[in-house]
Formats: sequence, C-alpha cells, structure tokens
Amino acid sequence: MIEPGAQVAALVIGTGYGGSVTALRLAQAGVDVHMVEMGMAWDTPGTDGKIFANTTTPDYRSYWLRTRTKQPLSNFLGFPLDKDVPKYTGILDAEEMGGIVVYQGRGVGGGSLVNGGMAVTPERSRFPGVLPSVDADEMYDVYYPRANSNLGVNTIDPAWFETAEAYQFARVGRKQAQRSGFRFTFVPNVYDWNYMKQEAAGTVPKSALAAEILYGNNYGKKSLQKTYLAQARATGRVTISPLHRVTTVTPTTGGYTVTIEQLDTSGAVTTTKTVTAQRVFFAAGSVGTSKLLVRLKATGALPALNNEIGTGWGENGNVMCGRANHLWDPTGSLQSSIPTAGIDNWVAGGAFAEVAPLPTGIETWASFYLSITNNPNRGRFTWNAATGKVELDWQTAWKQPSITMAKSIFDKINATEGTIYRTDLFGVYKIWGDHLTYHPLGGTVLNKATDNYGRLHGYSGLYVVDGALIPGNVSVNPFVTITALAERNIEKVIAEDL
Ligand SMILES: Cc1cc2nc3c(=O)[nH]c(=O)nc-3n(C[C@H](O)[C@H](O)[C@H](O)COP(=O)(O)OP(=O)(O)OC[C@H]3O[C@@H](n4cnc5c(N)ncnc54)[C@H](O)[C@@H]3O)c2cc1C
Repeated sequence: MIEPGAQVAALVIGTGYGGSVTALRLAQAGVDVHMVEMGMAWDTPGTDGKIFANTTTPDYRSYWLRTRTKQPLSNFLGFPLDKDVPKYTGILDAEEMGGIVVYQGRGVGGGSLVNGGMAVTPERSRFPGVLPSVDADEMYDVYYPRANSNLGVNTIDPAWFETAEAYQFARVGRKQAQRSGFRFTFVPNVYDWNYMKQEAAGTVPKSALAAEILYGNNYGKKSLQKTYLAQARATGRVTISPLHRVTTVTPTTGGYTVTIEQLDTSGAVTTTKTVTAQRVFFAAGSVGTSKLLVRLKATGALPALNNEIGTGWGENGNVMCGRANHLWDPTGSLQSSIPTAGIDNWVAGGAFAEVAPLPTGIETWASFYLSITNNPNRGRFTWNAATGKVELDWQTAWKQPSITMAKSIFDKINATEGTIYRTDLFGVYKIWGDHLTYHPLGGTVLNKATDNYGRLHGYSGLYVVDGALIPGNVSVNPFVTITALAERNIEKVIAEDL
C-alpha cells in the first residue's frame, strides 16, 4: 500500500491491459513501479467461499457502487431482471454517461476481470484504417504476436466444438449464418479450453459452464492477474495499491505530485495521500484516462495539454440483438459463458457479430449476438464547470448506423430462416440493445492528444498507455490491440526516455 509522501520512479494509474504491460516492461528494465487501482484486489473469497459472483445471481460483489443491478440484458419474456444489491465496490461498473451506459471492469486486472476473453487480432488489411500512424508491419510481425503469447491466447479444439453440449448455441449460429451465405469464423480466447473440457467431463470445479463471466470468473479464464500482472509482481519491482483512486496529477520539481484517495468498500474516502512520481502513466481506461485528463486540463492542474484531449471517443459500434428460433432449433439449456465464434460481414455490411451465449440454465430458443460495427460517430468529453463534472457528449441516435449494419446480417438470416427478432431482451418491444457499450475506446487519441508513442503533448514524463489511445473503433474486440499497442509504445519509451 502506497504511503503518504512516497517518492516513486513510475506511477501507473489503473491495472488493466495498458497498465499491466507498462508495469511489466518498466520493471524488467529496472524501474520500480507503483500501480494505483481504484477497484478491489479480488484475491479473497466472499461469503460463499468464492471470489466472484455468478452472472445469474448478482450480489454485493457484482456492481461498482450501485444499489440496483444494471444488467446489459435487462428483461426476459417481459419481466425486468434487475434487482437491489448492497452498495459496494463491486467488479462491474455500469457508468451512465449521457446517452450511453459504458460497462467497465473495476479491480486489479481492469476489464480482464469481467470480459468475455475474446482475443481477436484485427485483419491486417483493416489495420491502417484503425491506427493510420502506426507501422502495421511492426505490429503484425512483433507486437501482436508478443501480446497474444503473453495473454495466453488459445483456440477451441474444433473436434470438441462439434460435440460439446455447451456450444450447441454456437453451432446453431453457424448453421444459420452459413445458410444465409455469411462467413463464420472461430474467435481465439484467453479462456483455458483444456480446463473447459474438464468442466464438461465433471472433473474440475465449473466456471464457464457455471455461467460465470460478467461478474468475474473463478477458474478457467486467464485474466491479467494470471498473466501480465503475475509476471510483473514476480520481478519484485511492482507494487499495487487497490481501493486507491488518483484524483490529481500536477507538475513539481523533478516530476509530478499525485493526489490519491483511499476508499473503503462503501466507496467512502478514508484517507487522501499525496505522493511524488518521476513519471506518470495513465492507464485508467478510455473513459477513466480521458475524464481525468479533461478535468486536469480544465481545472489548471495540467493546463498545457492540447485541445485534442477528450475528443475522438467511440463505442466500437457495439449493438446487441436476439433472434427467436423455431422449436426445432433449440440453442441448449447448458451454454458456455465464453463465446467462441462470430459472423463476419465487415467488408460488405460493416458488421462483425459475435455469437454470444445466453447462459440462463433453461432452453430459450433464442440466438443472441453482440455486433461490432463500423459506426463513424464519435463522442467528446467536456468539462462542466457548473457541476464540476466531466460529461460525455453522445446520443443514442448515433447508434443508428450500427443498427443498420447489424441488420445487414440479421434481416437476411431472419428471411432465410423464417424467424423474427426477440423484442423482450432490452425492454418491452425493444429489438436493439443500442444503449450500451462494452468497448469504450479513444478520448486521448494517439498522434493527436499524444505523440505517436503515447507521450502527452505539453509535459515530459506523462504518458497514456491504454484504450484511450485508439480512435473509437478497432473492427473487432479490442483488448489484443490495446495490449499490442502498449507493448509497442513502452518499448520506445524505455529505449528513448529512461
Ligand atoms: C462485459 C465486458 C465484456 C468484454 N468482452 C471483451 C472481449 O471478449 N474481448 C475484448 O477484446 N474486449 C472485451 N471487453 C473490453 C475490454 O475489457 C477493454 O477494452 C479493456 O479492458 C480496456 O483495457 P484498458 O487497459 O484500456 O483499461 P481497463 O481494462 O478498463 O483498466 C482500467 C483500470 O483503471 C482503473 N481506474 C480508472 N480510473 C482510475 C483512477 N482515477 N485511479 C485509479 N484507478 C483507476 C479501473 O478501475 C480499471 O481497473 C469487454 C468489456 C466488458 C465490460
């Protein structure tokens, strides 16, 4: 735990993908690193003997300082699913920002604690459209392979997929995609597929096959706690303060003064600490980093930051929907919580749709999808002096291009199959889950708010290392790209700045 008055060589704000890569590589280069994380450590079992709660039974551990759950799938067969929970520093933040709910992981490991583990490297041909200032050859020859290897990315055994009861939903998804002429692709994951086979055989405690995902995964998923962060801790140079939130960073002689609030599990501030850091790495996630920097610029703590701060934010074109299948097409009462495949219509229709599970434990005859679409709309974070808060300028109507692109897949499948959309999953008679995102990106865009390696303009020794660098969309699930970009940038920073 960081002490008031401490002096640290490198302070990393946040412990998600960008922060974990940065901490590991700095430590390996001989730099002492302190990581500050506003969420909990998630290393101690709760009242039921498990560290993480099940997705079907949210409890005090599930939400970040909410008194009622805010489930992405809010309704089922006309019934609302949300329920009251005790206010606690839980694992999933459903941050309501203007016209959108932004889901984010809170705790040591960031988004890796709550995500679906889908570990996708975008197709090489799409990369220049994502990060035009980055050398694609370097990324595909060096940094994507490095990220995939360190994250423990692996693919499902195709033979097992064909017979696994828990992937009937995905096989139905494939059959229907192919009957409509769409490309169906397997998607790599960081879930340990061998572990899942043992779950199916009944020889180990169940995790993916027990509907664990959104509120943490007790066994098979290789979250950052098991990969980058474990390696970082093993260097002996990395320490972490959980339940500590950075509020201010401002220049001082030889570095930066950083103000940190220590929280208790009700979210109350118990202590405020001031420390000094030679270098500060912003890894608080797209929303966390962008909000912090917009506020620090507007309130005079970091006035020399440029006007790109807060701009270029996107939601990776996320939109959800469900389809109602015929009675002869059951999707299975046992569904693995870990998705493993998707429908690729990016080139023709601007959408990549993940065939997602609905692990309710009962037969639903529903197919469920999270589409990533090429939505061109971008939001912006601004400072509201009257409320003293950073706001996100985003409107639900800006999701219309995403819906149109997702329809390029599902209207056709419905026509081929003679089926209809489900209207009971996101409200009453509401087809599209267009009010949310799992994939916030941008707000402090590479080569605009920072130089081409994440160094913030206006200050030496301040860096952005997370998803805030990526301008709004990566065409696939984002964490492999966030990890690979962090690997690329920190290598340059270590070579040139230290
Ligand atoms: C439900 C869900 C499912 C997802 N599924 C996938 C998937 O299958 N594949 C995929 O590629 N992506 C997925 N994602 C997205 C992915 O998890 C994120 O893109 C990724 O975690 C972002 O990495 P990051 O390093 O930018 O920040 P994060 O991982 O968000 O880490 C930021 C950390 O900083 C902390 N923090 C914030 N502010 C402060 C502060 N002021 N002081 C201290 N700490 C702070 C936060 O608590 C957090 O732990 C999913 C996300 C969600 C929510």
